[in-house]
Amino acid sequence: MAVIYNRVALIGLGLIAGSMAHAMRAAGLAGEIVGYARSAETRAIARDLFCDRVTETAAEAVVGADLVVLAVPVGVMGEIAAEIAPHLAPGATVTDVGSVKGAVVEAVGPHLPAGVHFIPGHPMAGTEYSGPRSGFATLFQNRWWLLTPPEDTDPAALARLRELVESLGARVDTMDVAHHDLVVAVVSHVPHAIAYTMVGVADHMRRVSQSEIIKYSAAGFRDFTRIAASDPVMWRDVFLSNREAVLDILGRFAEELFVLQRAIRMGDGEHLHAYFSRTRAIRRGIIEAGQDTSAPDFGRSVDQAAGASGNVR
Ligand code: NAP
Repeated sequence: MAVIYNRVALIGLGLIAGSMAHAMRAAGLAGEIVGYARSAETRAIARDLFCDRVTETAAEAVVGADLVVLAVPVGVMGEIAAEIAPHLAPGATVTDVGSVKGAVVEAVGPHLPAGVHFIPGHPMAGTEYSGPRSGFATLFQNRWWLLTPPEDTDPAALARLRELVESLGARVDTMDVAHHDLVVAVVSHVPHAIAYTMVGVADHMRRVSQSEIIKYSAAGFRDFTRIAASDPVMWRDVFLSNREAVLDILGRFAEELFVLQRAIRMGDGEHLHAYFSRTRAIRRGIIEAGQDTSAPDFGRSVDQAAGASGNVR
C-alpha cells in the first residue's frame, strides 16, 4: 500500500496508538511515525516497538506532521490540544480516538487554528489491556471506526483519513457527535458500568468466599471480570464525559431490571422466555454481522489465539 500521510504524530502511546502504529508500519501507510507520551518509560518502549522517533513534548511531536492523532485519555485531550495548537502545520488533519465525542469536540475544537482540519474519531475496538506494549497490528481488523466530521469538513481531508482508517482494516461510518455518544452509551459504556457493578457486588458478598468466586467464575462472572479489568483512568474519563447519555441508558436499564425482577418474583415464565428469546436473537445478529465469533465460551479461545479479545469500547 502507498504512503497516505508523510508524517503521523501520535500523542499518547498506549493500546490504540500502538496498534495504529503497528498496522501503519505493516502496510507502509506513514512516511514517519513520531510519538509523544507523558512518561519517559512509555516513550522508550514506543521507540523500540513502533515509533520512528519520540519527542520530549507534544508540541515537538506535531511539528511538520500532516496527521496528528490524539490517543490520550478523554480528560486530557483539551490540555494537549492547547499545547500543540501553535505548532500544527497549516493543512494538517487532527483526529482523536477518544471513546466519547461531545466532550472531546468541546475541549479540543476551540484551540485549533483555522486551516487545520479537525475530524474526531473513535475506533470501536479494544482489549482490557493498556500501555505501550499492549498494541498489535490486527486490532482494528473488521471493527467499526466511527468518524464525526463537522458539517463543513473538507471532503479531501475526510477522504484521506477514511483511506487510512480503512487501510488499518477498519470499517468506517460517519455520524453526528450526539448520536455517537448515545450509541456508545448503549453498546459500550453502560455494559461496562454493569460489569463494574456486578464485580463490585461479588466483592461485597461476604457469604460467597473469594476462592468460590474465582473457582466457579466460568459460570458467567468471568466475562464481567474481564470487562471490569479495563483501564480505570480511561473509564473514569468516559463516564465523566458522557454523563448525560450514560445516565439516560442506565435509567432505562434500571426500568428493564425492575420488570425482570418482577417477572421472577411472580414466577412469570412466559415473560422470561419471551424476553430471553428476543435477546438471543440480538446475539445472533451480532455474529451474522461479523462482530463476534459463534464459538462457545464467548469466543475466548479463538480470541486468545489471535492475541486479542476484540472488545468494542
Ligand atoms: P492507554 O493504553 O492507557 O494509553 C494512554 C496513553 O496516554 C499512554 O501513552 C499515556 O502515557 C498517555 N497519557 C496519559 N495521560 C497523559 C498526559 N496527561 N499527557 C500525555 N500523555 C498522557 O490508553 P488507550 O487504551 O490507548 O486509550 C487511548 C484513548 O483511546 C482514550 O481516549 C480512550 O478513550 C480511547 N479508546 C480506548 C479503547 C480501549 O479499549 N482501550 C477503545 C477505543 C478508544 P504514559 O504511559 O506515559 O502514562
